Amino acid sequence: MRTLESLGDLRSKTVIVRCDLNVPLKDGVITDDGRIRASLTTIRELREAGARVVLISHLGRPEGRPEAKYSLQPVAVRMAELLEAPVAFVPETVGAAATAAVEALRDGDVVLLENLRFNAGETSKDDAARRTFAEQLAAFGEAFVSDGFGVVHRKQASVYDLAQLLPSAAGRLVAGELEVLQRLTESPERPYTVVLGGSKVSDKLGVISHLLQRVDTLLIGGGMLFTFLAAQGHKVGASLLEADQLDTVRGYLAEADRLGVRIVLPTDIVVAAGFAADAAHEVVAADAIESSSFGAAGLGLDIGPESSAAFASVIADSATVFWNGPMGVFEMAAFAEGTRTVARALTETDGFTVVGGGDSAAAVRALGFSDNQFGHISTGGGASLEYLEGKNLPGLEVLA
Ligand code: ADP
Ligand code: MG
Repeated sequence: MRTLESLGDLRSKTVIVRCDLNVPLKDGVITDDGRIRASLTTIRELREAGARVVLISHLGRPEGRPEAKYSLQPVAVRMAELLEAPVAFVPETVGAAATAAVEALRDGDVVLLENLRFNAGETSKDDAARRTFAEQLAAFGEAFVSDGFGVVHRKQASVYDLAQLLPSAAGRLVAGELEVLQRLTESPERPYTVVLGGSKVSDKLGVISHLLQRVDTLLIGGGMLFTFLAAQGHKVGASLLEADQLDTVRGYLAEADRLGVRIVLPTDIVVAAGFAADAAHEVVAADAIESSSFGAAGLGLDIGPESSAAFASVIADSATVFWNGPMGVFEMAAFAEGTRTVARALTETDGFTVVGGGDSAAAVRALGFSDNQFGHISTGGGASLEYLEGKNLPGLEVLA
C-alpha cells in the first residue's frame, strides 16, 4: 500500500483528497461530525507540507444531479471550524468556478468541491463515463490521496479511476483502518471472537464462511439470529427471517462443528407484540419464541438477559473482538439492553476491540459510550466487512 511518503515533496503541489464526508444531516444541520473529524489528520499533514488541498466527497445518494439537501456546504463550514483554518467551498464539482477556485489556491490552502454524486459519472457502471468524469477531476491536481475508507469497496470514479490517473497514495485514515483490519485477519491474538448482528442478514452471512476459518467463537445476535434458530428447526414467529438462506446457514453450522469453531446463539429472546417502541414485550426461551403471549405474531427485537450475560462472558475472555451489527433494535429503549451489554463488555475486556458498521458505531455513541473506550471504531461498515470476507476492494487495489 503506497502511503503519503511515496508522493515525495508536496510543497506548492495541488493534491486532490477523496474523503468520506458523508455525515448525517437533519434540516441542514450536521448531527454527527465523526467522519469530518476522521479526515482531519491527513488534511492537516498535507497543509503542513505546503500542499494546496482540493477535497472531494459524496454525501447521501443524489441521483447524478444537484439536489440542495445533499450539498456539502455545511460540511465546509464545520471543517473550517475543526481545522481552525478557512475552507473555501465551490458549489460545483467540475466547471469554470471549480477550476478558478483551484487555481487561486496558495500553499496550505483548502478548498472543498461540491458533492461528487451530483455528477452521473461518479457512480456510473459505464467505464467510459466514469473515466471521463475522473479525467475532469484529475485535471485539478498533481497527486491523489485516497482517504475515504467508507467507499474503498466501491468502483467509482473518484475512488478507483482517479487513482489511476495521477500519482496516488492512501491517506492516514485509510492506512490506519487497514492496519487494524490486517491485525484481525493475519495474526489475531487468540481467543478471537466475532460478534455479528444487525439487520442486513444476507449481506452479512457471506462474511461467516470466511470467518469460520479464522475465529474461535462467533456470537450471533440481531436480525440474523432468527435464520440460525430456524435452521435448527425452531419456530421464530414474525421475527426477521431469510428463508432462502436456511440451507446456507445449516452449512455454516456443520462447517463450524467440523472446524471446532464455537457458534453461540442466544438462549433467550425479547419478543414483542409489534415493531414499536411501546410494544408489549416479554422474555422467552429462544427455542420457544411462539410460546410468548403474542404467539406466532410475536417478533424478536433483542437478545434476552441470559444471552447478553453469556455473550459478555465470552467477550471478557477474548484477546481480540470484532463487532458488527447491533444485538437488537437499539433505537428503541426497550430493545437496547442486549446491545448495551455487549458494548459494555467490549469496553471492559483487556482484549483488542474493533467496532465496524455505521449503525453499530452510532449505537455505541447513542448508548453513551465514547470512542476511546474501544480499540478502534471503523468509519466504514461495508468496507471493513468486505475486507474481512477476503474480497478485493477496488479502491485499495489501485493503491497497491
Ligand atoms: P451496521 O450498520 O452496524 O452494519 P446494520 O445496518 O446491519 O448494522 O443493522 C442495524 C439495524 O439492525 C439497526 O437499525 C437495528 O434496529 C436493526 N436490528 C437489530 N436487531 C434487529 C431485530 N431483531 N429485528 C429487526 N431489526 C434489528
Ligand atoms: Mg447499517
